[in-house]
Amino acid sequence: MPRSSEVRVNQTAPNEPAAGAVPLRLALAVCALLVGTAAAFGDDGATRVKELLDAGQAAEARNAARARVERAPDETICWRWLALACERLERWDEAEETWVAYAAITRSRINRAAAAEHLAWCRARRKGETPAAAGGASIDPVALGSVDASFTTARSAHFVVKSRNAQLTRLVADRAEEYLTSLCRTFLGDRAWAHEIPITIYRDHAEYVGAGNPAWSGGGTAFRFEEKGALDWKIKRSIDLFQLGAEGKLDPELLPNTLPHELTHLVLSEHFGEHAVPLWLTEGLAQLMESVDPDYYDKVVVADLNSGKRFYVPIPALVGLPKYPEGSGPKFLFYRESASFTRFLLANLPRERFFEFVDDVKRGFTAIAGLGQVFAVPPEQVAERLEKKWLDGLVQKYGTSIGSLEEAEKSR
Ligand SMILES: [Zn+2]
Repeated sequence: MPRSSEVRVNQTAPNEPAAGAVPLRLALAVCALLVGTAAAFGDDGATRVKELLDAGQAAEARNAARARVERAPDETICWRWLALACERLERWDEAEETWVAYAAITRSRINRAAAAEHLAWCRARRKGETPAAAGGASIDPVALGSVDASFTTARSAHFVVKSRNAQLTRLVADRAEEYLTSLCRTFLGDRAWAHEIPITIYRDHAEYVGAGNPAWSGGGTAFRFEEKGALDWKIKRSIDLFQLGAEGKLDPELLPNTLPHELTHLVLSEHFGEHAVPLWLTEGLAQLMESVDPDYYDKVVVADLNSGKRFYVPIPALVGLPKYPEGSGPKFLFYRESASFTRFLLANLPRERFFEFVDDVKRGFTAIAGLGQVFAVPPEQVAERLEKKWLDGLVQKYGTSIGSLEEAEKSR
């Protein structure tokens, strides 16, 4: 039975890196959830494509991305950037072709859903239509950043969304349904989701914090057992987000990153039921569901290693960590380290073995015992052996080429 008044809250990482690092930038990249074989970037070509896109140089970005995908067709991320560059250049035929190629090679259902959405949008544009809300490119940040005096509510099959912008309210309800479908397929074996979740989008971070969310967090999910008697208990579920970023404009993290991140926590909590999901695992998976190039997490870890492991938590400690570390630097690295290590596990275990591990932990085994089981390594050795393999791989991939967190941040 669940304990009375047990509260579990998972948070999106703060949007503030460790002191001294540059602010995080809007991610154009996309994560490949459950990626098995992400090709290493042999040079900074992929980073260059993103820089060109960020700088609005779509023609140059297209050329660079085209050259890149011809040289390294396994680099999923470059296909996405190529498609986005083609969209910006209104080269609809080429964009459509590229989204199809991207959908074929990505292993993430969410990425495939995003590709399908973009594809429909490109097709409509090619025909001269102006689709209402299909695809990221149709999002109007100015319209979505306006704040009405009062809240509007939108309902979808599983969500009741409230915000002070009717268009945003509807959009979040629709996006949440799409993400939920993918997440349930991934984690719940397509089990139906029989709950209605309130999502409240506060005006800004201050209002979100005023509602009881930690000041360091960028999004909050509650999965709370409430018990009034032996046979009278229920689970309360809710997600808190905020609309405007630091500049008073639509928070660019909200739709591509924070929303899928928080929904991942919710679905994992549902899957684990009365057992708590290990913090590193839920934060690792939640970040891999964001639209962020997953190489970014590896690069941050490498930057920390190269600067003397300022905030690094050894894996035997990380997998047993009961709560978020104190301080912005340790928190920041805890998130990135969790994502990088989770990604490493996904890349080194067949999918079904990874879910065996998740199920073992769900049944009450420690993460160490579960890892020992799926990797067939004695539990007392497994964390250190995996840690060595993971870090050796990162060092081999990046060497000392990433000297600082600022450099790592550029790849986000
Ligand atoms: Zn989180």
